[in-house]
Amino acid sequence: MDTFDFIVIGGGMMGGPCARYLAEGGHSVALVAAPEPANRTTSAGPFGSHFDAARITRRVAADADWSLLSRRSIDRYRDIEARSGARIFHETGALMAGPTEGGMAAFTDRFLSIAGALPQPPDILDAAGVADRLGIALPNGSRASFETMQGGWMDPRAMRGAQIDLALKAGAQVFASPACDAQEGSIRLADGTALSAGHVVVATGPHAASDGLLPRVPLLKVWARTIAFARLSEAEGARLATMPSMIWVPDGWDHDLYMLPPVRYPDGHLYLKIGGQVDSARIHSSEDMAAWFHGDGEADVGLRLLAEMRRVLPGLQVEAEHTQPCAVVWSETGYPYIDRAGPNVTVLCGGNGAAAKCGDELGRLGAMVASGAGIGGEGYAQTFEAVWA
Ligand SMILES: Cc1cc2nc3c(=O)[nH]c(=O)nc-3n(C[C@H](O)[C@H](O)[C@H](O)COP(=O)(O)OP(=O)(O)OC[C@H]3O[C@@H](n4cnc5c(N)ncnc54)[C@H](O)[C@@H]3O)c2cc1C
Repeated sequence: MDTFDFIVIGGGMMGGPCARYLAEGGHSVALVAAPEPANRTTSAGPFGSHFDAARITRRVAADADWSLLSRRSIDRYRDIEARSGARIFHETGALMAGPTEGGMAAFTDRFLSIAGALPQPPDILDAAGVADRLGIALPNGSRASFETMQGGWMDPRAMRGAQIDLALKAGAQVFASPACDAQEGSIRLADGTALSAGHVVVATGPHAASDGLLPRVPLLKVWARTIAFARLSEAEGARLATMPSMIWVPDGWDHDLYMLPPVRYPDGHLYLKIGGQVDSARIHSSEDMAAWFHGDGEADVGLRLLAEMRRVLPGLQVEAEHTQPCAVVWSETGYPYIDRAGPNVTVLCGGNGAAAKCGDELGRLGAMVASGAGIGGEGYAQTFEAVWA
Protein backbone atom coordinates (compact mmCIF):
# COMPACT_ATOMS: atom_id res chain seq x y z
CA MET A 1 0.00 0.00 0.00
CA ASP A 2 1.39 3.44 -0.94
CA THR A 3 1.64 5.76 2.04
CA PHE A 4 1.59 9.56 1.94
CA ASP A 5 1.66 12.48 4.34
CA PHE A 6 -1.70 13.61 2.94
CA ILE A 7 -4.47 12.21 0.78
CA VAL A 8 -6.83 14.78 -0.71
CA ILE A 9 -10.08 13.26 -1.99
CA GLY A 10 -11.73 15.38 -4.70
CA GLY A 11 -9.85 17.37 -7.32
CA GLY A 12 -12.42 20.13 -7.79
CA MET A 13 -12.23 23.85 -7.14
CA MET A 14 -11.06 23.42 -3.53
CA GLY A 15 -9.40 19.99 -3.46
CA GLY A 16 -7.06 20.57 -6.43
CA PRO A 17 -5.43 23.69 -4.97
CA CYS A 18 -5.35 22.12 -1.51
CA ALA A 19 -3.28 19.23 -2.90
CA ARG A 20 -1.06 21.67 -4.78
CA TYR A 21 -0.36 23.80 -1.69
CA LEU A 22 0.42 20.71 0.37
CA ALA A 23 2.75 19.32 -2.31
CA GLU A 24 4.45 22.68 -2.83
CA GLY A 25 4.93 22.79 0.94
CA GLY A 26 7.13 19.73 0.65
CA HIS A 27 4.65 17.05 1.75
CA SER A 28 4.04 13.75 -0.03
CA VAL A 29 0.50 13.98 -1.41
CA ALA A 30 -1.98 11.69 -3.14
CA LEU A 31 -4.77 13.53 -4.93
CA VAL A 32 -7.75 11.27 -5.60
CA ALA A 33 -9.49 13.18 -8.36
CA ALA A 34 -12.33 11.46 -10.18
CA PRO A 35 -12.63 12.88 -13.71
CA GLU A 36 -15.70 14.70 -14.98
CA PRO A 37 -18.11 12.06 -16.32
CA ALA A 38 -17.66 11.63 -20.09
CA ASN A 39 -21.45 11.33 -20.38
CA ARG A 40 -23.41 12.83 -17.50
CA THR A 41 -26.68 11.31 -18.74
CA THR A 42 -25.46 7.75 -18.09
CA SER A 43 -22.69 8.15 -15.49
CA ALA A 44 -23.14 6.89 -11.93
CA GLY A 45 -20.85 9.69 -10.75
CA PRO A 46 -19.24 11.08 -8.78
CA PHE A 47 -20.49 14.47 -9.94
CA GLY A 48 -19.27 17.95 -9.15
CA SER A 49 -20.26 21.61 -9.25
CA HIS A 50 -17.55 22.79 -11.63
CA PHE A 51 -18.33 20.84 -14.82
CA ASP A 52 -18.73 23.87 -17.05
CA ALA A 53 -16.80 26.31 -19.23
CA ALA A 54 -17.26 29.47 -17.18
CA ARG A 55 -17.79 30.80 -13.67
CA ILE A 56 -18.21 34.45 -12.71
CA THR A 57 -15.29 35.98 -10.88
CA ARG A 58 -15.40 39.34 -9.11
CA ARG A 59 -13.90 41.21 -6.17
CA VAL A 60 -17.25 42.70 -5.17
CA ALA A 61 -19.39 40.54 -2.92
CA ALA A 62 -22.15 41.04 -0.41
CA ASP A 63 -19.69 40.25 2.36
CA ALA A 64 -16.10 41.18 3.29
CA ASP A 65 -14.86 37.60 3.75
CA TRP A 66 -16.18 36.41 0.38
CA SER A 67 -14.58 39.46 -1.20
CA LEU A 68 -11.22 38.73 0.44
CA LEU A 69 -11.38 35.06 -0.61
CA SER A 70 -11.94 36.20 -4.19
CA ARG A 71 -9.36 38.97 -4.22
CA ARG A 72 -6.61 36.73 -2.94
CA SER A 73 -7.51 34.09 -5.54
CA ILE A 74 -7.82 36.56 -8.42
CA ASP A 75 -4.42 38.02 -7.50
CA ARG A 76 -2.92 34.57 -8.12
CA TYR A 77 -4.71 33.66 -11.39
CA ARG A 78 -2.00 35.07 -13.65
CA ASP A 79 0.74 33.23 -11.76
CA ILE A 80 -1.19 29.94 -12.04
CA GLU A 81 -1.65 30.61 -15.76
CA ALA A 82 2.03 31.43 -16.28
CA ARG A 83 3.23 28.34 -14.44
CA SER A 84 0.72 25.92 -15.97
CA GLY A 85 0.32 27.37 -19.46
CA ALA A 86 -3.50 27.24 -19.05
CA ARG A 87 -5.82 30.12 -20.02
CA ILE A 88 -8.08 30.54 -17.01
CA PHE A 89 -9.03 34.19 -16.47
CA HIS A 90 -11.09 36.25 -18.93
CA GLU A 91 -11.09 39.83 -17.67
CA THR A 92 -14.35 40.92 -19.30
CA GLY A 93 -15.45 43.01 -16.32
CA ALA A 94 -18.13 42.23 -13.75
CA LEU A 95 -21.38 44.04 -13.06
CA MET A 96 -23.27 43.58 -9.78
CA ALA A 97 -26.62 45.35 -9.49
CA GLY A 98 -29.62 45.51 -7.23
CA PRO A 99 -32.56 47.71 -6.32
CA THR A 100 -32.27 50.68 -3.96
CA GLU A 101 -35.77 50.16 -2.59
CA GLY A 102 -37.81 47.19 -1.40
CA GLY A 103 -36.82 43.90 0.15
CA MET A 104 -33.61 43.47 -1.84
CA ALA A 105 -32.25 46.98 -1.07
CA ALA A 106 -30.18 45.56 1.82
CA PHE A 107 -28.39 43.27 -0.66
CA THR A 108 -27.53 46.32 -2.78
CA ASP A 109 -26.34 48.31 0.25
CA ARG A 110 -24.08 45.45 1.31
CA PHE A 111 -22.28 44.95 -1.99
CA LEU A 112 -21.99 48.71 -2.62
CA SER A 113 -20.35 49.15 0.75
CA ILE A 114 -17.86 46.34 -0.02
CA ALA A 115 -17.26 47.85 -3.46
CA GLY A 116 -16.60 51.31 -2.00
CA ALA A 117 -13.96 49.96 0.38
CA LEU A 118 -11.96 48.10 -2.29
CA PRO A 119 -8.57 49.31 -3.43
CA GLN A 120 -9.18 50.75 -6.90
CA PRO A 121 -12.96 50.75 -6.26
CA PRO A 122 -15.24 49.91 -9.17
CA ASP A 123 -17.42 52.48 -10.90
CA ILE A 124 -20.88 52.93 -9.39
CA LEU A 125 -23.63 53.40 -11.98
CA ASP A 126 -27.40 53.80 -12.04
CA ALA A 127 -29.65 52.00 -14.53
CA ALA A 128 -29.31 54.81 -17.11
CA GLY A 129 -25.52 54.75 -16.76
CA VAL A 130 -25.43 50.99 -17.30
CA ALA A 131 -27.69 51.30 -20.35
CA ASP A 132 -25.48 54.03 -21.82
CA ARG A 133 -22.22 52.32 -21.15
CA LEU A 134 -23.11 48.66 -21.69
CA GLY A 135 -26.47 48.50 -23.47
CA ILE A 136 -27.83 46.42 -20.58
CA ALA A 137 -31.40 47.20 -19.47
CA LEU A 138 -31.45 46.91 -15.68
CA PRO A 139 -34.72 47.62 -13.86
CA ASN A 140 -35.26 51.32 -13.11
CA GLY A 141 -33.98 52.18 -9.65
CA SER A 142 -31.08 49.70 -9.88
CA ARG A 143 -27.64 50.67 -8.69
CA ALA A 144 -24.60 48.78 -9.92
CA SER A 145 -20.92 48.35 -9.30
CA PHE A 146 -18.94 47.81 -12.48
CA GLU A 147 -15.48 46.30 -12.15
CA THR A 148 -13.63 46.88 -15.38
CA MET A 149 -10.54 45.05 -14.12
CA GLN A 150 -10.02 41.94 -11.98
CA GLY A 151 -13.53 40.76 -12.75
CA GLY A 152 -15.13 38.69 -15.49
CA TRP A 153 -15.12 34.94 -15.70
CA MET A 154 -12.77 32.04 -15.11
CA ASP A 155 -12.73 28.65 -16.78
CA PRO A 156 -13.21 26.07 -14.00
CA ARG A 157 -12.09 23.14 -16.15
CA ALA A 158 -8.89 24.98 -17.08
CA MET A 159 -8.37 25.90 -13.42
CA ARG A 160 -8.84 22.29 -12.37
CA GLY A 161 -6.32 21.13 -15.00
CA ALA A 162 -3.81 23.79 -13.98
CA GLN A 163 -4.05 23.01 -10.25
CA ILE A 164 -3.60 19.29 -10.89
CA ASP A 165 -0.74 19.95 -13.28
CA LEU A 166 1.05 22.13 -10.72
CA ALA A 167 0.38 19.59 -7.95
CA LEU A 168 1.99 16.92 -10.15
CA LYS A 169 4.97 19.19 -10.86
CA ALA A 170 5.36 19.62 -7.09
CA GLY A 171 5.54 15.83 -6.70
CA ALA A 172 1.94 14.85 -5.91
CA GLN A 173 0.57 11.58 -7.29
CA VAL A 174 -2.86 11.74 -8.89
CA PHE A 175 -5.37 8.87 -8.87
CA ALA A 176 -8.38 9.07 -11.18
CA SER A 177 -10.41 6.26 -9.65
CA PRO A 178 -13.01 7.52 -7.13
CA ALA A 179 -12.50 6.88 -3.43
CA CYS A 180 -15.20 4.58 -2.12
CA ASP A 181 -14.08 3.96 1.45
CA ALA A 182 -12.05 5.85 4.04
CA GLN A 183 -11.19 4.42 7.45
CA GLU A 184 -8.67 6.09 9.76
CA GLY A 185 -6.21 7.11 7.09
CA SER A 186 -6.72 4.08 4.81
CA ILE A 187 -8.49 4.81 1.55
CA ARG A 188 -9.84 2.32 -0.95
CA LEU A 189 -10.45 3.38 -4.52
CA ALA A 190 -13.09 1.93 -6.84
CA ASP A 191 -10.38 0.20 -8.93
CA GLY A 192 -9.13 -1.63 -5.82
CA THR A 193 -6.10 0.59 -5.13
CA ALA A 194 -5.39 1.02 -1.43
CA LEU A 195 -3.68 4.17 -0.12
CA SER A 196 -2.85 5.38 3.35
CA ALA A 197 -1.83 8.70 4.85
CA GLY A 198 -1.24 10.48 8.12
CA HIS A 199 -4.02 12.90 7.23
CA VAL A 200 -6.97 12.87 4.82
CA VAL A 201 -8.73 15.89 3.33
CA VAL A 202 -12.26 15.29 2.02
CA ALA A 203 -13.17 17.81 -0.69
CA THR A 204 -15.84 15.89 -2.56
CA GLY A 205 -18.14 18.86 -3.22
CA PRO A 206 -21.81 17.89 -3.48
CA HIS A 207 -21.05 14.35 -2.25
CA ALA A 208 -19.32 15.34 1.01
CA ALA A 209 -22.38 15.00 3.25
CA SER A 210 -23.55 11.68 1.84
CA ASP A 211 -20.53 9.66 0.64
CA GLY A 212 -19.47 8.39 4.08
CA LEU A 213 -15.82 9.41 3.59
CA LEU A 214 -15.88 11.69 6.65
CA PRO A 215 -16.09 10.34 10.22
CA ARG A 216 -18.83 12.94 10.93
CA VAL A 217 -21.56 14.25 8.66
CA PRO A 218 -21.34 17.98 7.86
CA LEU A 219 -24.69 19.79 7.71
CA LEU A 220 -25.03 20.76 4.05
CA LYS A 221 -27.94 21.38 1.73
CA VAL A 222 -27.34 20.16 -1.81
CA TRP A 223 -29.69 21.87 -4.25
CA ALA A 224 -30.66 20.59 -7.68
CA ARG A 225 -30.44 23.73 -9.79
CA THR A 226 -31.32 24.39 -13.41
CA ILE A 227 -29.25 26.63 -15.67
CA ALA A 228 -30.27 27.85 -19.11
CA PHE A 229 -28.19 28.47 -22.22
CA ALA A 230 -28.85 30.64 -25.26
CA ARG A 231 -26.81 29.73 -28.34
CA LEU A 232 -25.60 32.74 -30.30
CA SER A 233 -24.48 33.19 -33.88
CA GLU A 234 -20.91 34.39 -34.36
CA ALA A 235 -22.32 37.81 -35.35
CA GLU A 236 -24.46 38.07 -32.20
CA GLY A 237 -21.50 36.92 -30.12
CA ALA A 238 -19.38 39.66 -31.69
CA ARG A 239 -22.09 42.25 -30.97
CA LEU A 240 -22.05 41.22 -27.29
CA ALA A 241 -18.28 40.75 -27.09
CA THR A 242 -17.77 43.56 -24.56
CA MET A 243 -20.50 42.34 -22.23
CA PRO A 244 -19.39 41.80 -18.61
CA SER A 245 -20.35 38.98 -16.29
CA MET A 246 -23.41 40.12 -14.43
CA ILE A 247 -25.43 39.62 -11.28
CA TRP A 248 -28.67 41.57 -10.93
CA VAL A 249 -32.13 41.52 -9.38
CA PRO A 250 -34.91 41.53 -11.98
CA ASP A 251 -37.95 43.75 -11.36
CA GLY A 252 -40.14 42.22 -8.66
CA TRP A 253 -37.78 39.33 -7.87
CA ASP A 254 -36.72 38.56 -4.32
CA HIS A 255 -33.32 37.17 -5.30
CA ASP A 256 -30.57 37.79 -7.79
CA LEU A 257 -29.77 36.10 -11.09
CA TYR A 258 -26.40 35.71 -12.77
CA MET A 259 -25.39 35.65 -16.42
CA LEU A 260 -22.15 35.03 -18.25
CA PRO A 261 -21.09 36.94 -21.37
CA PRO A 262 -20.67 34.94 -24.60
CA VAL A 263 -18.42 31.95 -23.88
CA ARG A 264 -17.29 29.36 -26.42
CA TYR A 265 -18.23 25.85 -25.29
CA PRO A 266 -16.57 22.55 -26.24
CA ASP A 267 -19.13 22.05 -29.07
CA GLY A 268 -17.61 25.10 -30.79
CA HIS A 269 -20.65 27.38 -30.27
CA LEU A 270 -20.95 30.61 -28.32
CA TYR A 271 -23.47 30.59 -25.46
CA LEU A 272 -24.88 32.98 -22.91
CA LYS A 273 -25.59 31.19 -19.65
CA ILE A 274 -28.07 32.30 -17.01
CA GLY A 275 -28.85 30.87 -13.59
CA GLY A 276 -30.07 31.71 -10.13
CA GLN A 277 -32.66 29.89 -8.05
CA VAL A 278 -33.26 30.21 -4.34
CA ASP A 279 -35.43 27.18 -3.88
CA SER A 280 -35.42 23.89 -5.76
CA ALA A 281 -35.44 20.17 -5.05
CA ARG A 282 -32.83 18.86 -2.61
CA ILE A 283 -30.35 16.06 -3.33
CA HIS A 284 -29.80 13.66 -0.43
CA SER A 285 -27.82 10.74 -1.88
CA SER A 286 -25.59 9.68 -4.77
CA GLU A 287 -28.69 8.03 -6.31
CA ASP A 288 -30.58 11.37 -6.20
CA MET A 289 -27.52 13.05 -7.69
CA ALA A 290 -27.21 10.61 -10.59
CA ALA A 291 -30.95 10.84 -11.33
CA TRP A 292 -30.75 14.66 -11.40
CA PHE A 293 -27.64 14.76 -13.63
CA HIS A 294 -29.18 12.21 -16.01
CA GLY A 295 -31.90 14.73 -16.90
CA ASP A 296 -31.78 18.22 -18.39
CA GLY A 297 -33.00 20.28 -15.43
CA GLU A 298 -36.45 21.84 -15.21
CA ALA A 299 -37.85 23.30 -18.44
CA ASP A 300 -40.13 25.84 -16.72
CA VAL A 301 -37.23 27.25 -14.69
CA GLY A 302 -35.27 27.58 -17.94
CA LEU A 303 -38.10 29.52 -19.58
CA ARG A 304 -38.30 31.98 -16.67
CA LEU A 305 -34.53 32.52 -16.73
CA LEU A 306 -34.39 33.00 -20.50
CA ALA A 307 -37.24 35.55 -20.34
CA GLU A 308 -35.14 37.62 -17.92
CA MET A 309 -32.11 37.23 -20.18
CA ARG A 310 -34.10 38.75 -23.05
CA ARG A 311 -35.47 41.54 -20.83
CA VAL A 312 -32.02 42.67 -19.77
CA LEU A 313 -30.42 42.32 -23.24
CA PRO A 314 -32.74 44.17 -25.62
CA GLY A 315 -32.71 42.89 -29.20
CA LEU A 316 -31.02 39.61 -28.27
CA GLN A 317 -30.99 37.14 -31.17
CA VAL A 318 -30.89 33.51 -30.05
CA GLU A 319 -30.31 30.52 -32.33
CA ALA A 320 -31.32 27.81 -29.84
CA GLU A 321 -31.99 27.30 -26.14
CA HIS A 322 -31.44 24.46 -23.72
CA THR A 323 -31.26 23.77 -20.00
CA GLN A 324 -28.85 21.72 -17.92
CA PRO A 325 -28.77 20.37 -14.36
CA CYS A 326 -26.22 21.40 -11.77
CA ALA A 327 -25.80 21.00 -8.03
CA VAL A 328 -24.83 23.64 -5.50
CA VAL A 329 -23.92 23.06 -1.89
CA TRP A 330 -25.08 25.40 0.87
CA SER A 331 -23.56 25.26 4.36
CA GLU A 332 -25.32 26.28 7.58
CA THR A 333 -22.97 29.23 8.05
CA GLY A 334 -23.06 30.61 4.51
CA TYR A 335 -19.31 30.00 4.27
CA PRO A 336 -17.24 26.99 3.28
CA TYR A 337 -16.38 24.45 5.96
CA ILE A 338 -12.61 24.28 6.45
CA ASP A 339 -12.32 22.31 9.64
CA ARG A 340 -11.06 19.19 11.33
CA ALA A 341 -13.59 16.36 11.15
CA GLY A 342 -11.36 14.24 13.38
CA PRO A 343 -7.72 14.28 14.55
CA ASN A 344 -6.47 13.14 11.12
CA VAL A 345 -9.28 14.28 8.80
CA THR A 346 -10.11 17.71 7.38
CA VAL A 347 -13.36 18.68 5.66
CA LEU A 348 -13.07 21.20 2.82
CA CYS A 349 -16.44 21.79 1.20
CA GLY A 350 -19.57 23.97 1.09
CA GLY A 351 -19.07 26.34 -1.84
CA ASN A 352 -22.40 28.17 -1.32
CA GLY A 353 -22.62 28.71 -5.08
CA ALA A 354 -19.60 31.01 -5.04
CA ALA A 355 -16.42 29.00 -4.54
CA ALA A 356 -15.13 28.42 -8.06
CA LYS A 357 -13.59 31.87 -8.33
CA CYS A 358 -12.00 31.64 -4.87
CA GLY A 359 -11.13 27.95 -4.83
CA ASP A 360 -7.42 28.73 -4.83
CA GLU A 361 -7.60 30.64 -1.54
CA LEU A 362 -9.97 28.05 -0.05
CA GLY A 363 -7.53 25.31 -1.04
CA ARG A 364 -4.68 27.24 0.59
CA LEU A 365 -6.68 27.59 3.82
CA GLY A 366 -7.61 23.89 3.63
CA ALA A 367 -3.94 22.94 3.34
CA MET A 368 -3.16 25.08 6.40
CA VAL A 369 -5.88 23.45 8.51
CA ALA A 370 -4.87 19.97 7.37
CA SER A 371 -1.24 20.59 8.27
CA GLY A 372 -2.15 21.90 11.71
CA ALA A 373 -1.60 25.62 11.12
CA GLY A 374 -4.39 27.82 12.44
CA ILE A 375 -6.13 30.16 10.02
CA GLY A 376 -7.22 32.63 12.71
CA GLY A 377 -4.52 35.08 11.62
CA GLU A 378 -5.40 35.02 7.94
CA GLY A 379 -7.55 38.16 8.04
CA TYR A 380 -11.04 36.65 7.97
CA ALA A 381 -13.86 37.40 10.40
CA GLN A 382 -15.17 33.86 9.85
CA THR A 383 -13.61 30.82 11.47
CA PHE A 384 -14.87 28.53 8.64
CA GLU A 385 -15.79 25.94 11.28
CA ALA A 386 -18.13 23.20 10.14
CA VAL A 387 -21.58 22.55 11.58
CA TRP A 388 -22.11 18.83 12.13
CA ALA A 389 -25.28 16.78 11.99
C1 LIG B 1 -24.41 26.16 -12.37
C2 LIG B 1 -23.44 26.66 -11.36
C3 LIG B 1 -22.97 27.95 -11.48
C4 LIG B 1 -22.04 28.43 -10.57
N1 LIG B 1 -21.56 29.68 -10.75
C5 LIG B 1 -20.52 30.11 -10.00
C6 LIG B 1 -19.89 31.33 -10.30
O1 LIG B 1 -20.30 32.04 -11.23
N2 LIG B 1 -18.83 31.70 -9.57
C7 LIG B 1 -18.36 30.92 -8.55
O2 LIG B 1 -17.35 31.31 -7.94
N3 LIG B 1 -18.93 29.74 -8.24
C8 LIG B 1 -19.99 29.33 -8.94
N4 LIG B 1 -20.58 28.12 -8.67
C9 LIG B 1 -20.16 27.35 -7.49
C10 LIG B 1 -18.87 26.60 -7.67
O3 LIG B 1 -18.83 25.90 -8.89
C11 LIG B 1 -18.71 25.67 -6.48
O4 LIG B 1 -18.83 26.43 -5.28
C12 LIG B 1 -17.38 24.95 -6.49
O5 LIG B 1 -17.24 24.14 -7.64
C13 LIG B 1 -17.25 24.09 -5.24
O6 LIG B 1 -15.97 23.50 -5.22
P1 LIG B 1 -15.71 22.13 -4.47
O7 LIG B 1 -14.27 21.82 -4.62
O8 LIG B 1 -16.31 22.16 -3.11
O9 LIG B 1 -16.58 21.06 -5.26
P2 LIG B 1 -16.51 20.62 -6.79
O10 LIG B 1 -15.97 21.71 -7.61
O11 LIG B 1 -17.84 20.07 -7.09
O12 LIG B 1 -15.45 19.45 -6.81
C14 LIG B 1 -15.68 18.23 -6.17
C15 LIG B 1 -14.83 17.22 -6.89
O13 LIG B 1 -14.79 16.04 -6.12
C16 LIG B 1 -14.81 14.94 -7.01
N5 LIG B 1 -15.28 13.79 -6.26
C17 LIG B 1 -16.46 13.64 -5.64
N6 LIG B 1 -16.50 12.46 -5.00
C18 LIG B 1 -15.30 11.86 -5.21
C19 LIG B 1 -14.74 10.61 -4.80
N7 LIG B 1 -15.42 9.75 -4.04
N8 LIG B 1 -13.48 10.32 -5.21
C20 LIG B 1 -12.78 11.19 -5.97
N9 LIG B 1 -13.26 12.38 -6.39
C21 LIG B 1 -14.51 12.71 -6.00
C22 LIG B 1 -15.75 15.37 -8.11
O14 LIG B 1 -15.52 14.63 -9.29
C23 LIG B 1 -15.35 16.84 -8.26
O15 LIG B 1 -14.31 16.97 -9.20
C24 LIG B 1 -21.56 27.61 -9.52
C25 LIG B 1 -22.05 26.31 -9.40
C26 LIG B 1 -22.98 25.84 -10.30
C27 LIG B 1 -23.46 24.43 -10.17
